[in-house]
Amino acid sequence: MTALTSTALVTGGSRGIGKAIAETLAQDGYQVYLTYVSKPQEAEAVAAQIQARGGQAKAFPLNVGNAEAVTRFFAEEIKEKVDLAVLVNNAGITKDGFLVRMKDEDFDAVLQINLRGAFICMREAAKIMTRQRHGRIINISSVVGQMGNAGQMNYTAAKAGLLGMTKSAAKELASRSITVNAVAPGFIETDMTASLSEEVRKTYEEAIPLKRMGSAQDVANAVAFLASDRAAYITGQILAVNGGIYC
Ligand code: NAP
Repeated sequence: MTALTSTALVTGGSRGIGKAIAETLAQDGYQVYLTYVSKPQEAEAVAAQIQARGGQAKAFPLNVGNAEAVTRFFAEEIKEKVDLAVLVNNAGITKDGFLVRMKDEDFDAVLQINLRGAFICMREAAKIMTRQRHGRIINISSVVGQMGNAGQMNYTAAKAGLLGMTKSAAKELASRSITVNAVAPGFIETDMTASLSEEVRKTYEEAIPLKRMGSAQDVANAVAFLASDRAAYITGQILAVNGGIYC
């Protein structure tokens, strides 16, 4: 029997942090499966660029908020087809608003994608990794899940929840040599933060001890470390990539 290709699955790999993670893990030698929901051209371009540099990548449409679609994806594209070495739960959205004005549907939508979506992906990946007896799961949380943020009740709940799930999954899966860790980025230059006003951006930059917003690559470097053999004895941890804004 031929060996299955060592594969890293990155949800939301079409843009921003997920794109940098997909490119970095491809450079590290993984075949990368990256998913998207609304931007097929961007996702295909990321895969094409990885291939042009000699790497292996495929883009798949997958809404992590749709549990049935996620379960089907793992059954049809992952199980027994590839060696699922790494899962990065990166897909995420914001629907900001202050507590007293936040609509139920905006709370539910953010929890559905950022928390439940990560849970479904983790569950399906864990079934496969348990049989493989190895694997790395890396959840992209956020500094605001650690310290709170006005106007982000839904997002902070999801990102704090992701930290709890990371620790529980680490305890459950360690006996199968599967590590589960979280990366908690601070304020990172991507589409998600592009709408911040100059004034808010300046305030953040002044408050960050390293005096700059982070780059998607800063986060990808931390993910690549946690995916590597160098991090073999690290599980259940939160690696903050935040320029020192929260210690
Ligand atoms: P982004 O630029 O807005 O990109 C979001 C990515 O998620 C895109 O690839 C998007 O796909 C995908 N996505 C959105 N909804 C999805 C769904 N339902 N199913 C599958 N994929 C979906 O965001 P980013 O700034 O790179 O953030 C990436 C992750 O880091 C998120 O979890 C975010 O919460 C977290 N984070 C970001 C920051 C920051 O400052 N930027 C800080 C801390 C944590 P399409 O392109 O197809 O729409």
